[in-house]
Amino acid sequence: MAFEQESALANAQKQFDIAADKLQLDPGLRRILRVPQRELTVTFPVKMDDGRIETFVGHRVHHNITRGPAKGGIRYHPGVTLDDVRALSMWMTWKCATVSIPYGGAKGAVVVDPRALSPGELERLTRRYTSEISILIGPDRDIPAPDIGTNAQIMAWIMDTYSMHSGHTVPAVVTGKPINIGGSYGRQEATARGLSYVLREAAEVLSFPIAGARIAVQGFGNVGGTCARLLEEMGATIVAVSDSKGGIYRRSGLPLAAVAEHKARSGTVADFPEADRVTNAELLELPCDILVPAALHTQITARNADRIRARIIGEAANGPTTPEADSILYDRGIFVIPDILAGAGGVTVSYFEWVQGLQEFFWTEREVNAQLERVMASAFQQVLRTAHEQRVHMRTAAYLLAVSKVAESTRIRGIYP
Ligand code: NAD
Repeated sequence: MAFEQESALANAQKQFDIAADKLQLDPGLRRILRVPQRELTVTFPVKMDDGRIETFVGHRVHHNITRGPAKGGIRYHPGVTLDDVRALSMWMTWKCATVSIPYGGAKGAVVVDPRALSPGELERLTRRYTSEISILIGPDRDIPAPDIGTNAQIMAWIMDTYSMHSGHTVPAVVTGKPINIGGSYGRQEATARGLSYVLREAAEVLSFPIAGARIAVQGFGNVGGTCARLLEEMGATIVAVSDSKGGIYRRSGLPLAAVAEHKARSGTVADFPEADRVTNAELLELPCDILVPAALHTQITARNADRIRARIIGEAANGPTTPEADSILYDRGIFVIPDILAGAGGVTVSYFEWVQGLQEFFWTEREVNAQLERVMASAFQQVLRTAHEQRVHMRTAAYLLAVSKVAESTRIRGIYP
């Protein structure tokens, strides 16, 4: 199975170009927004448990910080490249603008398979990476969060390392932290919950109920696993899930709790006994009503877009669909809720967590979820309205809104000096 054959950065720039052309964006603004503003690559040593010293490569990229501090997750993945991080940082700028959150876009990564490290090695790697990128991060400058391969524990180590250097506790330097050191209720589930809100809105537009809908989820991690559970709670049937080792399919529906238990025990869903095995590529083409890509980018391309059978695609992952695939899906009447909208629940509640941390005043889970629902539903309706008015698909509509917000902010602030 071929993953990531096309460059995420080339796709991110094509998506931007489509919006910039349509907006007839000033050529100077276009030059600014098409590339990241700031990039840091670090190579750093980590003492391994057996006494060896290994070196690792990490990145932190700021695409644009015109509308506020840089915001974006940190990915630990063996295949991640600087170009991926550049693309992911661009998508963060547009994602924050789509849901009108006062942040710029950033992303970070370490080229590592975190599952191959002991807990001690993982902690030492995280602390040293934090130290290396500390010239960029800070509660009013750049606020990291979890992404693929990182979690609340890793955020706690980042927060602790930064705080040790500062000589006092700085909870607002990261989001996605554990609750008892300043994390927010609802953050862990936020990306999936946000997606469930926009899927509900989309189902209403297309007049078909989520209850009874058949769902396929690629990537049974934090986002995909939670999304499957929330959609099941809304009455949907989860027919397929997958992870990096492969996927499983059962037409009548998977027993989700048993699948989650199996993954917790064996490390993968792929060998769950009471279902048919499918590859990650086959999963995308299964008969279903809603397809949720929640793993890596560049999954739905010109090569498979004409075989997708879902009616709605809810993009939890960043960059799962290429621009060529977008056109094919649009012509086939498949409704795509783009990543910069569908996956914005995580950064929205990260913003809530940051606000709570700065004010040292914490909200209940009900308050967090109610605010999240308001933000997601309102962004969805805005994008839908633009799609209808401009006669474009939902991705281009979201880009038209996001790029014009960032371009206008840049224009008003002016070019320094
Ligand atoms: P995670 O590490 O918890 O889960 C990732 C899942 O994808 C795992 O099940 C993993 O096995 C699977 N996977 C990895 N490589 C794969 C491959 N080649 N094929 C199929 N599956 C593969 O990460 P996550 O936080 O759930 O993130 C998933 C996606 O959602 C990413 O694209 C991420 O950028 C995006 N996202 C995450 C957040 C967040 O708050 N965590 C927010 C917005 C978007």
